Amino acid sequence: MDDLAAIPVIDGHCHPFDPATPPREEDWLRFEQPEGDGVGETLLRMAARAWAGGRRGDAAALFADAGIVGQVVDPGWPDLPFGMDRYAEMAPARVKLLQRIEHLCDEALAADDGDVRDAAERVRHLTLAALASGRFAGLKSVIAYETGLDIQPPNHERAQEALTAGLPRRQSKALNEFLAHTALRAAAETGAVVQFHTGIGARFLPAHQESPWHLLGLLEQAWLRGARVVILHAGFPHLTAAGRLVGIFPNVYCDLSMLFPYSYPACSARLRELLAFAPPGRLIFGSDGCFEPERYWIAAKLAKQALAEVLGDLVRDGAMTASDALRLAEGMLYDTSARLYEFPR
Ligand SMILES: [Zn+2]
Repeated sequence: MDDLAAIPVIDGHCHPFDPATPPREEDWLRFEQPEGDGVGETLLRMAARAWAGGRRGDAAALFADAGIVGQVVDPGWPDLPFGMDRYAEMAPARVKLLQRIEHLCDEALAADDGDVRDAAERVRHLTLAALASGRFAGLKSVIAYETGLDIQPPNHERAQEALTAGLPRRQSKALNEFLAHTALRAAAETGAVVQFHTGIGARFLPAHQESPWHLLGLLEQAWLRGARVVILHAGFPHLTAAGRLVGIFPNVYCDLSMLFPYSYPACSARLRELLAFAPPGRLIFGSDGCFEPERYWIAAKLAKQALAEVLGDLVRDGAMTASDALRLAEGMLYDTSARLYEFPR
């Protein structure tokens, strides 16, 4: 199949970076900052160093090389010394922001009057206001890190008990879920996009809680069907679970960050695994980029390489035409995100 280099890319899940503060050489493109002596150079870093050449640190050149024209940014991490308006000016791509549900819950609880229904009403108001403001392209939830993805139906009595006892939101499953439900209902009523962190990504997320399959009970709720739900990081390493959920629920999408770039050199193998269950029309490229422009760049480069390889094999097998394959690649790299987050089409 043809080279996909010319297809424009929207990065459907990433974080901001600070062009003025490049990372230390030993931290460059590391999945996680090592605490030891830095032994253990990854193949990803070796490849990036070889391919970047003189473009190292040059965000405009790197983004142009990979065709990145849009970014859907979760500004909730890392903390940068400037606001997101400044980031949008500096980034060499069109930037759309997400609002973290947990930040809205904290804001609502800061005005605590002791009644959990009042707190939930404030969450609803804040969520609807954020979505109507035109400032945000959707919501993001990191509830996986806090009280887990197995979000239970709201239990008013237990949530009120936790609030009355002064338990922090992050330490009370009932309180956190009561407030999260309110935000999710507002999202569903307005047809908003909600991204959920799933899969590995943080050492403080216990392995038994990371699979997106824990979202099944929530996704089965009829009231949630109005929301477009994005499973972040393809639930990595639980790709089959993520793919199954996309296959079951027509309002569920899957972000490919973690496959690209961190699965290198197994990107195409991981993509095949996901495609075994997930309809390709609801897979979305994302890089989970942060810290330095090379992360976004190499993720997009590897995605184009893997898509060309995997879709090319399907064309050779006679499973689809070359133009079908091209349409699927354009969908994963640009069109589906453009539709979800309202980029120009
Ligand atoms: Zn992320």
